[in-house]
Amino acid sequence: MTIFGACIGRFLMSLGDAIREAGKRCAGVELRLFSKNEREAGNPEASELFWDVVCDRGSILIKCELCGRTHFSTDAIMYEDRDELDSLFAQEADDPDRYVSHANDAHWGYLDGKQAVYECQCNNAGRYEQLIWNDRHLILRYLERRTKENNLKAQVDARKVEQAESAGE
Ligand SMILES: [Zn+2]
Repeated sequence: MTIFGACIGRFLMSLGDAIREAGKRCAGVELRLFSKNEREAGNPEASELFWDVVCDRGSILIKCELCGRTHFSTDAIMYEDRDELDSLFAQEADDPDRYVSHANDAHWGYLDGKQAVYECQCNNAGRYEQLIWNDRHLILRYLERRTKENNLKAQVDARKVEQAESAGE
């Protein structure tokens, strides 16, 4: 299964749990990390539910690979080397669109094999959510067919192994 396929499968499996969790917040995840930055127009914003499913890690320094922005924590105690944080502040001052500071860790997870940062202003995660949700019936039909096909192939392989074993006895 491709990473994107695995991602869709994980999303669908988590959907039931996530719906039950709707209204609650993922522990430790702040709701609005980017209030100081304008969000990019054009892409739909991903929902809290989608981020709740996608984000399973946090980092003091992480690049959103959906757009190339660097997100970093301003919590100096988290850095072994204070110069690193000062350098990030300087880069943010030079290019505030590409360097985004957070009071705490940036939360993120993988989407399509890329690091997707929680509520990054690129909004690119919203396109994945829209695709998955809008095409959910197609995706479910595909997963059902693909799973059945894989299952049949595994059964054929298992029979071949059994036949080879009994021929060798
Ligand atoms: Zn981004």
